[in-house]
Amino acid sequence: MTISADASKPAPWPFVPSPRAVDVTHAEGCTLYTKDGDAILDAAGGAIVSNIGHGRREVAEATAEAMTKMTYAVPPFVTPERTRLVERLTRAWLPPHLTRIYLASGGSESVDAAARLAVQHFRAAGDTKRWKVIGRDISYHGTTMFTLDIAGHEARKRGFEQLMHDMPHAPTPYALRSPLGRHHPDFDVAAAQALEDIIVREGPETVAAFVAEPITGSSGGALMPGPRYWPMVQEICRKYGVLLIIDEVMVGFGRTGKRFASEHFDIKADIMISGKGLAGGYAPIVGVYATEEVTAPLADKGQALMFYTYGAHPGACAAADKVLQIMEEEDLVARSAEKGKALAERLEALLGQHPHVAEIRGEGLFRGLEIVKDRETLECFPEEAAVAGRVVAAGLKQGVFFYGGGTGTVRDIVCVGPAFIVSDAELDRIAETLKVAIDKAVESASK
Ligand code: PLP
Repeated sequence: MTISADASKPAPWPFVPSPRAVDVTHAEGCTLYTKDGDAILDAAGGAIVSNIGHGRREVAEATAEAMTKMTYAVPPFVTPERTRLVERLTRAWLPPHLTRIYLASGGSESVDAAARLAVQHFRAAGDTKRWKVIGRDISYHGTTMFTLDIAGHEARKRGFEQLMHDMPHAPTPYALRSPLGRHHPDFDVAAAQALEDIIVREGPETVAAFVAEPITGSSGGALMPGPRYWPMVQEICRKYGVLLIIDEVMVGFGRTGKRFASEHFDIKADIMISGKGLAGGYAPIVGVYATEEVTAPLADKGQALMFYTYGAHPGACAAADKVLQIMEEEDLVARSAEKGKALAERLEALLGQHPHVAEIRGEGLFRGLEIVKDRETLECFPEEAAVAGRVVAAGLKQGVFFYGGGTGTVRDIVCVGPAFIVSDAELDRIAETLKVAIDKAVESASK
């Protein structure tokens, strides 16, 4: 693996020079290859992005064809690639009530647009009082200033607090560390009730939306909400006229073994965002999906939702359309469920009783592990020990890439999320290497 070790001569990439940069030349299936000829098994699909695996020529060909026909058209214009993608999303992927589709090139800008849409919805309908967007205390929604504001990711917000409005935050249901006690049966109800308390305290007439991930992504390591959380939250949002924004940027498009994680909990969002898996890493594209009721006041007033210049790029739309076609033809959402179960069994067998693994969580091919200093007391390693980072580094040394997570306050999280085409032999290697990496990380942190 190529490491640029000489700090006096920083490599041209990345932006802030790093001695730990990995020099990747190409990729195939679930494997990345480095300049030195090493192979890295990608147990995280990059940043939980790659779902059909690397190197599918048909996607490149569809993208090339689109780009040859036309380079660029402003996002509101209709193009064949946009029409094909929107029709496929409507026909085969989205919940039927989400009929309006807006396309951006990343998760942060999509969540930002969703929040803008919520506020604009009320303004266009003549309600100028609703402007607050409630987030949750363990969450990640992106790295623009507003998405940082609504998120509960302390480490990434640190130092920028003065630039934020300090939006309200409701608790994320967290069974392992519920304020009622570890795995208290009412942990989900308590978290939902706390949301209602916050809406009432803030003044329901000032709240435009509540934004949350259905299964928390890497900030919490696949935190599962419990059976009563989402029914209660939906009821609360309806009661106070608050729009429900569901962020499926990480967990959508088959990652959890269903098309969207919302399906596990019968969530009917007013606005949903999803997209890492939309083009599976072949192109930068993420969607915001809304109901007719949400966009109707804008249409009535002749308003648009302001676009991003590269939103709905024809090449990206063609790539996404082909990736989704492959997912459908190869039944990859079902494969995510099946391989996810196989992954969970392997992780449980090797790490379920590990003295430093507090919990293994998740659904489908999205699994999170919480690593602790003491499994009995749930004491964490100090933040400076950066144990999750050590696990990732130790995994890379063994030729497997894991995705580190946690928020600083919540730590140490490691996520596993390979492409849906992962083989059983690769799953064996992922689980075995993760055990070695955790052992090595804990050993080095304890010295
Ligand atoms: N929302 C969630 C749930 C995410 O996991 C992420 C990224 O990991 C984002 C939003 C931000 O997406 P992006 O990095 O594409 O801006």
